[in-house]
Amino acid sequence: MAFEGLSERLQKVFSTLKGKGKLSDEDIRKVMREVRMALLEADVNFDVVKSFVKTVRERALGAEVMDSLTPSQQVIKIVDEELTKLMGQEAVPLNKSAHIPTIIMMVGLQGAGKTTTAGKLANYLKNDKKARPLFIAGDVYRPAAVEQLKTIGQQLDVPVYDEGTEHDPVDIVRNGLKVADENKNDYVIIDTAGRLEIDEQLMEELTRIKELAHPDEILFVADSMTGQVAAKVAAGFDEQLDITGVVLTKLDGDTRGGAALSIRSVTGKPIKFIGQGEKLDQLDVFHPDRMANRILG
Ligand code: GDP
Repeated sequence: MAFEGLSERLQKVFSTLKGKGKLSDEDIRKVMREVRMALLEADVNFDVVKSFVKTVRERALGAEVMDSLTPSQQVIKIVDEELTKLMGQEAVPLNKSAHIPTIIMMVGLQGAGKTTTAGKLANYLKNDKKARPLFIAGDVYRPAAVEQLKTIGQQLDVPVYDEGTEHDPVDIVRNGLKVADENKNDYVIIDTAGRLEIDEQLMEELTRIKELAHPDEILFVADSMTGQVAAKVAAGFDEQLDITGVVLTKLDGDTRGGAALSIRSVTGKPIKFIGQGEKLDQLDVFHPDRMANRILG
C-alpha cells in the first residue's frame, strides 16, 4: 500500500503525545526529530524535509493552545496543513486552449507510464469533458509504443494518428495536427519517446516538437516508485521544456512517498493527476489535502 511505512511511522510518533495536557518545547522538538527521520526514510528530498520540519516546528512552538483540540491533535493539524501546502494546496485543472484543439504533450522516462497515462487522459476527457481527442503516436523508438497506443485507441474509440516508426516524430506531429484540424478534434494528446535516463538527443527532439506544436500542457509523467529521483528527473525535464504539470503514476503500488512529497517543491510545478492502476479508468485528479489525509492515515 502506498505510504504505508510513512503513515505507520507518523502515527506512532504522534501517539507518544496522546494524553499530554500541554506540550513542552522539548516534546515538540523530539516529535519533529522523529518526523524528520520518517520523511527521510520515505525518500523525501533532503532540502524539502529540512524546510518542512522547520516550518512545522516553528508553528507548533508558537501555537496558541486551542480549547477545541488536544495538543497532539493540534500538532497533527499543523502537519496536515503543511503537507497539503507542500503538495500544492489545491487541485490544479488541466490547461485549456481558447480555441481548439487543446494540445497536450506527454513526456517522461521510458516505463514511467506515459503511453498508459495518455490513454487514461483521453478516457477522462471523453467521459468527464465530453471531448473528442486524437492521439499522435510520437514515440517511434520503442517499437511496441505505437501498437500500444493503437490498442488503447481501439479500446476507447479514440483515433490515433501514426506513421509507424520510420519517420521523424516532428513530421509525424505536424501531420497529425493537420488531421486534428480537419477532423475538428478538440484535444490532441501527443505521446513522445522516453529513454532510460535524460539524454541530449531526446531533449532536443522534445524541444523541436514543443516548438512546432506549442502545447497548452506539457505533462511530465513520473513513476512514484522511483522516489525523490522522480523529482530530480522532473526538474531536468522542466529546465529544458518548462513543463506545465506532473502526473504521478503507480500510486497503487507500495510507493514510500518521496516522489509525491518532493516533486512540487523541487520543480514548482503542480501535480495534476495520479495514476492508481494499469486500467484506463484508474486516473484521478490530484487533491493535495486528500493525499495529506491519506498519508496521515
Ligand atoms: P511508457 O514507456 O512511459 O510509455 O510506459 P507505459 O505506459 O508503457 O507503462 C509502463 C508500465 O507501467 C506498464 O506495464 C503499465 O501498465 C504500467 N503502469 C502505468 N501506469 C500505472 C499505474 O498507475 N499503476 C500501475 N500499477 N501500473 C502502471
